[in-house]
Amino acid sequence: REAQARRHAADPAATRDGTTVLVGANVGSPADAAAAAAAGADLAGLVRTEFLFLGRAAAPDVDEQQAAYTEIAEALGGRRITVRTLDVGGDKPLPYLPLPAEANPFLGLRGIRLAAGHPGLLADQLLAAVRVAHETPVSLMFPMVAALDELVTARRALDAAIAAEGRGTPPGLQVGIMVEVPAAALKAAAFVPHVDFFSIGTNDLTQYALAAERGNPAVAALADPLDPGVLRLVDAVCRAAGERALVAVCGEAAADPVAAELLVGLGVRELSTAPPAVPGTKQGVRELDVALAAPRAAAALTADGPAAVRAVAGSDR
Ligand code: PEP
Ligand code: MG
Repeated sequence: REAQARRHAADPAATRDGTTVLVGANVGSPADAAAAAAAGADLAGLVRTEFLFLGRAAAPDVDEQQAAYTEIAEALGGRRITVRTLDVGGDKPLPYLPLPAEANPFLGLRGIRLAAGHPGLLADQLLAAVRVAHETPVSLMFPMVAALDELVTARRALDAAIAAEGRGTPPGLQVGIMVEVPAAALKAAAFVPHVDFFSIGTNDLTQYALAAERGNPAVAALADPLDPGVLRLVDAVCRAAGERALVAVCGEAAADPVAAELLVGLGVRELSTAPPAVPGTKQGVRELDVALAAPRAAAALTADGPAAVRAVAGSDR
């Protein structure tokens, strides 16, 4: 199976019954982008831009960001890159971004929430992304969106960046939000008119849905992305999106074959994983039938816990 996965790594992945599912890679550096290309990723489903901002005295300027995003796009041979705007917060402090001390940084000023107090930081990043988007397909996404106002404000900043750049809207530019906040999943319909895609970050979505801090071993067993409560949030996004917006998953769950089947069954059409997991994820997609995955996913929504979900999904494995 592994040899087969490797042989077909660069081919697109479709289910047995003919539904194409894009398989992307999550990248946090140009080296990751090269690994993603070697693994046959269809796109970079998540570029964690924090790598450019951490561990230095001043923020990278527009030129430096443009060069870094271009390097990533080139490493991927011109495949689409999904640039996530800066997603830091009190748990990852930056010397040039003074933040108040917070008792609960995961519930505090992070992701898109920081843009309000630091509009120049977002403006520079958007300008760099717009410049790159004139050369190569770019999707732009905003992290930790909880309220429609945050997206509307961010889109206004994007319009300003497009105007400042001066060549009009780049033809391949797509705009989306990460769905990491449960309320955003439940309100997805309100976002649909403003986005091309949703990218569900199951790492944070699980943490917030179950009130179980990611990375805290004491609650790791609770923080299961296959909890029916999390799957219901994914389902809410897929139903709201319908045919009008692509739904992607870029959390770690995308690389779990059991989760992938259920996600595709719910309507997810892009899975983005760490580069080494790309060939196996594509192979998993090729072994699926949406016609089987959809009823299993529906049953998983009413299961009483993650173990029951796994039993439903794994019933022919
Ligand atoms: C997520 O939250 O699932 C995600 C992909 O973002 P990150 O892991 O960078 O927070
Ligand atoms: Mg996240």
